[in-house]
Amino acid sequence: MKNEVIAKLKEGKTFVLFMHLRPDGDSVGSSLALAYMLRKLGKEVDIALDGEVPELYHFLPGSTIESWLNLKNKSYDFAVFLDCGDRDRVGEAQAIASQAKESINIDHHPTNTHFADYNWVDASAAAVGEMVYELIKELGELDQTLATYIYTAIITDTGNFMYENTTGKTHTITADLLKHGIKPSSIAQAVYENVPVESLLLLTEVLNTLKFHSNRCIATMELTQDILKRTGASSLDAEGFINYARSVKGVEIAILFYEDSESSIRVSFRSKTYVDVARIASILGGGGHARAAGCTLNMPLEEAKIMVLEVSTRELKA
Ligand code: AMP
Ligand code: MN
Ligand code: MN
Repeated sequence: MKNEVIAKLKEGKTFVLFMHLRPDGDSVGSSLALAYMLRKLGKEVDIALDGEVPELYHFLPGSTIESWLNLKNKSYDFAVFLDCGDRDRVGEAQAIASQAKESINIDHHPTNTHFADYNWVDASAAAVGEMVYELIKELGELDQTLATYIYTAIITDTGNFMYENTTGKTHTITADLLKHGIKPSSIAQAVYENVPVESLLLLTEVLNTLKFHSNRCIATMELTQDILKRTGASSLDAEGFINYARSVKGVEIAILFYEDSESSIRVSFRSKTYVDVARIASILGGGGHARAAGCTLNMPLEEAKIMVLEVSTRELKA
């Protein structure tokens, strides 16, 4: 619960905060915000991440994070997971969590497994950034840097206040953030108008794979190893591509297959108005939100496509 989490954050002296694999704006923004707040209170804070912070978020102060491997000999009072529906979302860096006496889970995924000693899960929060905003209000005061982190978390998880998760509370929080000297246009430019040219080349290739199923209610796209080799891009450059598939008139479910290797396929799901894609992802071993979810399948792309389409078609009609 929230009050328990606040008490533990006040009590602890040393913390390790986790970002999830392939961190998005909410993961990066909310972790950096909580780390900054705790450091302001004189606490020692490390951030653990299996992988790299995408270049897109390098405009955020403190986003250069040392390798989690350097944290292997340290011990902590608390391990704090943010924006992670389950423990596996932090990948190999999970090993560091056992170096902490206790664990805290701050998340907004309805599929959250309450895996920590202290769990605060609020599925009504549009972003974990909203929850961290509430923690900051209890622990200290907002400033421009904190407002920048939280604003980034909120705009990325709400699709600029466009998705169903956007609430009055989201706007109330954002209004307060704007009182602390942040410029929405500067943050929006940093996040959305700084696209590497490789990303656009990749987009043309991925759009070429667009296919429709079930009377055009389902749209699929794929990012194959072949496409990555041809464009010299990274799959991190495909952030947001799935929205093109969802944006098509009549499409309810959008699916993007990432061929990470011959036998590991990451799948992103989005829905427009009624299909619960967290359910589809859960059936396939993953999780997420009703309108945005994901899973990883250990099988070749062609097999993964058949399995995912079978479950999606069934859920579309359910
Ligand atoms: P993405 O399509 O990667 O942007 O992910 C959309 C949503 O699904 C996010 O809220 C993720 O937390 C969740 N998600 C993605 N992949 C997985 C997974 N393998 N297991 C559980 N949740 C996932
Ligand atoms: Mn996330
Ligand atoms: Mn989130």
